[in-house]
Amino acid sequence: MIDFVKTVVGALEANCYVIWDTDTMEGAVIDPGGDVEDIAEIVEEKGITVKYILLTHAHFDHTHGAGELEEKYNAPIAISPEESFLIHDDLGLLMYYGDEKYIPVEPKIDLHDGDVLDLGNSKIEVIATPGHSKGGVCFGTDAGVFCGDTIFAGSVGRCDLPGGSMQELVESAAKQILTMKDDVVLHPGHGPDTTVGRERMSNPYLAGL
Ligand SMILES: [Zn+2]
Repeated sequence: MIDFVKTVVGALEANCYVIWDTDTMEGAVIDPGGDVEDIAEIVEEKGITVKYILLTHAHFDHTHGAGELEEKYNAPIAISPEESFLIHDDLGLLMYYGDEKYIPVEPKIDLHDGDVLDLGNSKIEVIATPGHSKGGVCFGTDAGVFCGDTIFAGSVGRCDLPGGSMQELVESAAKQILTMKDDVVLHPGHGPDTTVGRERMSNPYLAGL
């Protein structure tokens, strides 16, 4: 079984999730966008062995602390290969973020739709959801779906950045998320949790799908 703690990180207040398998305490950090000390405190307090650093997509508000964590825990960074062009360019925004401790993000694991990662006795399913960005993915677990900037409570991620497409995002949501049961919990990359059923009923961007 997966359990998790959410912590809000970085200047753009992204949700970082520290998740772990409750049998083995093997864990993963999803979207460490900054505030590495806060993330490390959770990892150490819970006694988690970090196996992976998982990135839903490459935008710096979700990835900024990934290099530092990789070095700290010697855990590989995993992301879709379709996002690497953004990691290396960092949207040109890094210069505005000003962080001397920044360690460049060097992915070690390529994620593809349908991949399953083992985390102790639990599984993490990779669900491709292009739209907010070209290689965006969600992570499906028995504790819900960590969905990055694909869907927010009552909204969806912006699609005007490089590689974004509203049509693709809506198609991804329809095919990959709204096909799940109503009571599946969604853990977005910003803001509060929601459920598949609530978004199906009330999300204006997903109306009529
Ligand atoms: Zn984003």
